[in-house]
Amino acid sequence: MTHPAQPKASHFINGTYVEDTSGTPIPVIYAATGEEIATVYAATPAIIEQALTSAQAAQKEWAKKTGTERGRVLRRAAEIMRERNHELSVLETYDTGKPLQETLVADATSGADALEYFGGLAASLTGEHIPLGEDWVYTIREPLGLCVGIGAWNYPTQIACWKGAPALACGNSMVFKPSETTPLCALKVAEILIEAGAPAGLYNVIQGMGEVGGALVTDPRVDKVSLTGSVPTGKKVYAAAASGMKHVTMELGGKSPMIVFEDADIESAISGAINGNFYSSGQVCSNGTRVFVHKDIKEKFLARLAERTATAKLGDPMDEEVNFGPMVTENQMNIVLGYIEKGKSEGARLICGGGRADMDGYYVQPTVFADVTDDMVIAREEIFGPVMCVLDFDSEEDVIARANDTEFGLSAGVFTKDFTRAHRVIGQLEAGSCFINSYNDAPVEAPFGGVKASGVGRENSKEAIKHFSQVKSVYVRMGDCEAAF
Ligand code: NDP
Repeated sequence: MTHPAQPKASHFINGTYVEDTSGTPIPVIYAATGEEIATVYAATPAIIEQALTSAQAAQKEWAKKTGTERGRVLRRAAEIMRERNHELSVLETYDTGKPLQETLVADATSGADALEYFGGLAASLTGEHIPLGEDWVYTIREPLGLCVGIGAWNYPTQIACWKGAPALACGNSMVFKPSETTPLCALKVAEILIEAGAPAGLYNVIQGMGEVGGALVTDPRVDKVSLTGSVPTGKKVYAAAASGMKHVTMELGGKSPMIVFEDADIESAISGAINGNFYSSGQVCSNGTRVFVHKDIKEKFLARLAERTATAKLGDPMDEEVNFGPMVTENQMNIVLGYIEKGKSEGARLICGGGRADMDGYYVQPTVFADVTDDMVIAREEIFGPVMCVLDFDSEEDVIARANDTEFGLSAGVFTKDFTRAHRVIGQLEAGSCFINSYNDAPVEAPFGGVKASGVGRENSKEAIKHFSQVKSVYVRMGDCEAAF
């Protein structure tokens, strides 16, 4: 019998599901059981061509609509997503293994937020009038054209919407390639957009590994590439896009610092550390995986953290009481277990967790290491799993320098009751998305993205509009045009 997660076909092109089984089969594995629940086929050159051709054709018509008309479609899509939240959340859980307790509140809902927010902005995207005496310049905010979105596997619905919603609001079309690990959810986003009234071809989804992404990025018809992925992939995609002088947004990895000062509310700081390390089993790019704790409160912090971490409920992700799911794949589990072994061999002190959970599926225990030093591999590399590194510090100046001593710059957090200190410290941290007495909030109204190797450009908020549109300026002379000869 076909599993309920099996999509009607692998790709969604020109307003309909399309299949081509001559592509490489991609099995979809449910991380909680290891069971194969669906198969999709990687896009062949013919499928890639169909997607690009239909996106290019649809964009021309879409850009002629008013912002109000475009926005209406996006807002209707948001409503449909909210109505179907339960079914979409179950699919997200099948795709990623994340617990339903999370997917019900974080995935289709945040995708709907993006569609609603950018749907609301679409009608107010205007240019400027710049008076120059009796002459003037006016500017027109124009779409870029055909945009490519390439997603990571941790938030397949959200990423599909975070890229699609601003792109479409600005009058662009999109070809989206999900991660091969989580190919299911973006197809639903495409289906819902059509139901909401988007023209056929405006938002297409095609499957495949890196080479399909590579073919999209290098196609001369593509004007913009927005990638969510790791730093090494980001460097490749950025370079390929640059050779075609394409616009880019790069949302990449991190190894973000969270600093807990001695006056912090300890329970609140521990909540921040738990949210910033164990939500989605640690598979979140902005996680605060280097938790710097002031030495005066370190042992108290660790004891309470261990107590609270012991109450995490691992198990069947479809059980809404479960709040900690498996790693997305066996491969990711093995990578994370490798880092845990590395931490032990480097001499970090294991506070809790430290291995695979004794159950079916790809579960890794929530793990905390203390006495981590800056040079350890577990403190330098992105692990992308539930492994928290606690480091000690003494002085504010020293912790800021150490927090910044990394190639990454995605996020940073500070816990303290001293607000003057909070702002002073945040002002010096090299990171794009920062938090004071909180961690990992990502409302669509706020810009999201990194500095340094963590990325280029911003998603969400009005900032995203700048990255999916361009400005044409028009000089208008009222008098005669003069020349030297
Ligand atoms: P990868 O970098 O491995 O892959 C990202 C996407 O790029 C996938 O769809 C992948 O396809 C595709 N891809 C790989 N190679 C190429 C290429 N040469 N050209 C075009 N596309 C290519 O990331 P993961 O999927 O493993 O996701 C985890 C990473 O994503 C972490 O580093 C994490 O920090 C980062 N991330 C960043 C976020 C942010 O907003 N800053 C949010 C979420 C995750 P395929 O998988 O099919 O090979």
